[in-house]
Amino acid sequence: MNTEKIIKAGKIASEVRAYAKKIVEKGMPLLEIAENIEGKIVELGGKPAFPVNLSINNIAAHYTPEHDDKTLAHGLLKVDFGVHVNGWIADTAFSVDLENSEENKKLIEASEKALDSALTLIKNGVSTSEIGESISKKIESLGFSPVMNLSGHEMDEYELHTGISIPNVNDGKSIEIKSGLYAVEPFATNGSGRVKDGRPSGIYELISNRNVRNSIAREILEFIEKEYYNLPFCSRWIIKKFGTKAIFGLRQLEESGNLHQFNQLIEISGSKVSQAEHTILVEKKDVKIVTA
Ligand code: MN
Ligand code: MN
Repeated sequence: MNTEKIIKAGKIASEVRAYAKKIVEKGMPLLEIAENIEGKIVELGGKPAFPVNLSINNIAAHYTPEHDDKTLAHGLLKVDFGVHVNGWIADTAFSVDLENSEENKKLIEASEKALDSALTLIKNGVSTSEIGESISKKIESLGFSPVMNLSGHEMDEYELHTGISIPNVNDGKSIEIKSGLYAVEPFATNGSGRVKDGRPSGIYELISNRNVRNSIAREILEFIEKEYYNLPFCSRWIIKKFGTKAIFGLRQLEESGNLHQFNQLIEISGSKVSQAEHTILVEKKDVKIVTA
């Protein structure tokens, strides 16, 4: 673990979160919000660890604007972004109510309070199911349900999801938390508490660097390998670099098994979802909330 770089990524993430809370407003194009946030990360000396996710209402996660996206911010908006410094990641998220809805505000409070209760528990030696249980109990005590099939995760250098999961319910697995870097991210919903795959998101990750014949596909593959390694990226970023001919190249790379494209994640009953997330560095005898 490179503590110094993790702390730096966390400080940038925290500053960017404050900036994002200030600029996001109803009616603003999601494309503009994403580009402003990603630009701010770079301005402060980091790089986006993945494309900014701006998921509205019943879309729980994995919505990032397309290069020509016209969607305007509205409803219950989740802003989820990551910063990396030389591959060391800080992952954080918050939710915002853009329609002055009491229910949205309560849902947002539920995921925030659940995150707080998980953060008071997490340390070396605590089990993942204890954390999951504290999250679900808190959300249920406020009248909502946790999203059971979404979870927090361990991270490592250039690895956004690796190692163990941090569940949002008691999953009975009781894995002991050890020193490491973790993202805790409760999701609260007024629906049934599960997500299913939705439409393709335009968010990809590299899964194989096997050779491809097509020249634009090969050019894109080389760029991804040296720019993003194993971290997620999106078609918007690739189109910005290569122009719209990149759409064909990305399709080729997906068909050849070089890239995996994530789907949007949609609440199964079509209900609203809120999210709160922080990154935590668990050390032998200490715990640091790096994105606080
Ligand atoms: Mn996140
Ligand atoms: Mn995360």
